[in-house]
Amino acid sequence: MRVLLSLVLLVFASGVQPALALADDPRIDPTTGRQIAAWAPDRPFDHEHMRLELRFPDMNKAEFEGVMALRAKAVGEARGTLTLDSQGPKVSRVLVRGIEAAFTLQNNRLSIVVAPPAQPGEVIDAVVEYACDFSGNKGDGLVWRRPREDSKSESGRMPQVWSQGQPEHNSRWFPCHDSPNEKLTTELIVTAPKAFEVCSNGRLISTNTAQVGMKTWHWSQETPHPAYLVTLAIGRFSVIDLADEKARASGLRVVAYVPVGSEESAATTLGATAEMIRFFESLFDEPYPWAQYAQVCARGFNGGMENTSATTMMDAIVNGRAGQWDGLIAHELAHQWFGDLVTCNSWDHLWLNEGWATYAEALWDEHKASPQGPEKAKEAYQRNIAGNLRSQRVTNRGFSPDFPAMVSNRYTDPDEMFSRLDNPYPKGACVLHMLRMRIGDTAFFKGSALYLDRYKHATATTDDFRRCLEETSGVSLEQFFDQRVYRPGYPRLGVDLSWDESTRTLGVAFEQTQKIDRFNPAYTLDIPVLVRFSDGSSRTFVSPMNARTGRLDVVLDSRPTRVIIDPDLTICAPTQIRTPLTTAEPAASPAAPAQ
Ligand SMILES: [Zn+2]
Repeated sequence: MRVLLSLVLLVFASGVQPALALADDPRIDPTTGRQIAAWAPDRPFDHEHMRLELRFPDMNKAEFEGVMALRAKAVGEARGTLTLDSQGPKVSRVLVRGIEAAFTLQNNRLSIVVAPPAQPGEVIDAVVEYACDFSGNKGDGLVWRRPREDSKSESGRMPQVWSQGQPEHNSRWFPCHDSPNEKLTTELIVTAPKAFEVCSNGRLISTNTAQVGMKTWHWSQETPHPAYLVTLAIGRFSVIDLADEKARASGLRVVAYVPVGSEESAATTLGATAEMIRFFESLFDEPYPWAQYAQVCARGFNGGMENTSATTMMDAIVNGRAGQWDGLIAHELAHQWFGDLVTCNSWDHLWLNEGWATYAEALWDEHKASPQGPEKAKEAYQRNIAGNLRSQRVTNRGFSPDFPAMVSNRYTDPDEMFSRLDNPYPKGACVLHMLRMRIGDTAFFKGSALYLDRYKHATATTDDFRRCLEETSGVSLEQFFDQRVYRPGYPRLGVDLSWDESTRTLGVAFEQTQKIDRFNPAYTLDIPVLVRFSDGSSRTFVSPMNARTGRLDVVLDSRPTRVIIDPDLTICAPTQIRTPLTTAEPAASPAAPAQ
């Protein structure tokens, strides 16, 4: 998922000074002493397949009738209860093994009696009949958008329905295991008035117009995915073809659902989609995982959401010039591998989804600039990484234990994971960049491909990813992950430069200026220092540091014209040059795009 940056920054800004007055330790609820943490829920049943039949008799109302049929296998021991998350459905009847079953609906949990209990390994079928009024949903779950009579497009003059499941909102419109640690195949069979287009996950198996005025759409996602990636969009759309020759040859449907009248401009702004698919397939060494790639441009949607095979996009994306929205398009497309094919097992590992998708924007920038030569490609890539670091330099002064780290289960609502200061989006991208710099391109991309290959159709944790990179690089990354992933904030450097003409010695004194205390030891860093000379030549030194202060002294042939600390953002440490050598050193970095 990606939301507009301004909204994210607002959340950052509001979190800069957390209210800690009531608690000495924010990890514990001060009244009860309870630990503030979220854990992946149990999976007493392995959910294999869901068939969801929905009927929207009147698109002018935010209401539908549904039948959810689940096939699930008991795990571990005999199971007498099947419990599902269910935040909205009004359940009228439940069947288990074809026979009416007792159920209760409490605290957004639907508990179904399985009698006799399902034995370990036994597969049961449960059917839930329900109705749903979703008029109260404003941006999550299933959302109804009213028609706008003044709209220039006939799409705008008709109502629209779309879903937003992440993180745990799809149980507002169908009962399910609403947590990412469960994957299943799904089918949606949706009946709506025939003027509307219906898009969902996977492959369109059939349509049926047997009933006067109505049309039934049968979509099937034959590759398992988590409940939060189930999507539904109903609206008046034009469907445009974005496939290139290779996609056509392989039978991959690449399309966009766009407002009627915007076909031409949408073909321009979304024009890079097919090329991006090929680029990521090659870079990730893994074929595009789904039966189609649709981008559904939905009214009132904010940013994009990477539902498997059918991303939902804000409809503003159909306006603009070619390339303008490539970052958002690349982000959601990369999620089809990182997030969708391999899914974070719980939301504390969200950076495996969002860090990767954000990082993929930089990878696309690098690829896009590559025809202009490797220097330009590197420049474009680093400009993107510097942007991510810059956003964190201002907002993320986190330290332990007051702030939860990027990977930490310290949250009460999974939505917090998306907006925390030690943010999985920009920090996740910076961490991936640092890993690439540390172990090199070959080991980094091989390790990432290994991760996709090993955990595809399944879920993964941060340590799973680390182990893959360690396998392909031979480098122990435990300390790096401990410092940069499981700990909030960034190392911050104050630097004093000096030049001794008599000995021709350059002195670089480093001080780590972030908080250092019993919870926050100094970082261990290898700091690259680039030194430039008047004849255009340059030399790079690496200064190891594992304490509050460190120092580099090097004898040079001549006085440098410029000293640049960490020119390639290898250590992503916001830096202040407190004592410059010349006026050429920027006072703070990354203040401008990296060189
Ligand atoms: Zn995302």
